Amino acid sequence: MPIVQAGTPVLRARASEVTPEAIPSPEFQALLKMMIAVMREAPGVGLAAPQIGIPLRIIVLEDDESMIASTTETERTEKGRVAFPTRVFINPELKVLGTKTETFFEGCLSVDGYAALVERFHEVEVTGLDEHGVEQVWHVTGWPARILQHEVDHINGTLYIDRMKTRSFALTSHVRSHYAGKPIADVIKELKIGAP
Ligand code: ZN
Repeated sequence: MPIVQAGTPVLRARASEVTPEAIPSPEFQALLKMMIAVMREAPGVGLAAPQIGIPLRIIVLEDDESMIASTTETERTEKGRVAFPTRVFINPELKVLGTKTETFFEGCLSVDGYAALVERFHEVEVTGLDEHGVEQVWHVTGWPARILQHEVDHINGTLYIDRMKTRSFALTSHVRSHYAGKPIADVIKELKIGAP
């Protein structure tokens, strides 16, 4: 199942609600399994159904130790990056808590090969149905909160490039070679973000 890239109309449409009665069906369960498999193979920490061309309000998320292993301790602390097991949200509703925001580099499997600085809320709460159709709530901060905001944007037809600090848009490889390990405040200054 290929991940569709920016320019594909499904990425710009509001995805449809899932009928809760459909969740137990073998077809729907197979779709969830496939989304998780595609996310892992990419590899990525989140995937929304429109990214595989399916216009439904489903997101999957996962950040395990193997994904985090490549980041430094400082980076993990700065970003609030913590491992969490696979989560499925069907018809998610996101609520922002507080006004605190954080700016970090972010990429997207549907804008392959690029990254940019994106300002996101520090703390959010998401409600929705899990893979069994059971109502669930997840209250998170830091990196999982960023992943959630990114994935919920997808089902509303929004990409991170709509929210990015445009001057920071760069090849992922350049972000790694130029900015990895640098405090984000220095990167913002160097890129003259916010400058007139
Ligand atoms: Zn994405």
